[in-house]
Amino acid sequence: MIQAVDAGVPRLVLTPRDATAAPAEEALRLWCRETGLAGAPLGDHYLRAGEDFLRLLVFLGCSPTVSFEMPDEAAIGSGSFYHVAITCLPAPTLRADRMTLTPRCPACREALQEWRELWPPGSPAVEAECPSCAAGLRPEVLNWRRSAGVGSAFIEVLGIHAGTVQPAPALFERLKTVSGLEWQHFFVSELPVDPSLH
Ligand SMILES: [Zn+2]
Repeated sequence: MIQAVDAGVPRLVLTPRDATAAPAEEALRLWCRETGLAGAPLGDHYLRAGEDFLRLLVFLGCSPTVSFEMPDEAAIGSGSFYHVAITCLPAPTLRADRMTLTPRCPACREALQEWRELWPPGSPAVEAECPSCAAGLRPEVLNWRRSAGVGSAFIEVLGIHAGTVQPAPALFERLKTVSGLEWQHFFVSELPVDPSLH
């Protein structure tokens, strides 16, 4: 479980469309450098923004609001400058936050008001029953309208608030070229997921 969502770091999250795809961290690091999204490593699990960062991420109606310069080492993992985090989890996991929109059951169209009980954010994405129609549901089949998502492997751009950036088509094309996978994106504000809690 992710604690203290109020203290979360806003982030754009990229993950393979196939939630079970589990590439190694090394592959993820390589891919996000090969696309130009990320550059030099910043210690374990983090990289600097890359040379094509501003070509691959379109800022909507506003300029970038935080710096590309790292203020100090303590800022790694925070939202105070743009950089990239790599997260690998042992099983498909729902990433969500307190702003996540309520999804609907694809079978009966009822709003799944109980989604947080069915799939606590940060917990492995298991199958659950729709409380209205009893259809078996997995969170990865629901339409979260980019306010949550499910995956095992994530490339995350820290410092980006929900809806302020549109990833360019070129980002998904390049990711597909280097990885052979289809990718999707969503926005959440959360602390780093702790894989030891799985
Ligand atoms: Zn239903």
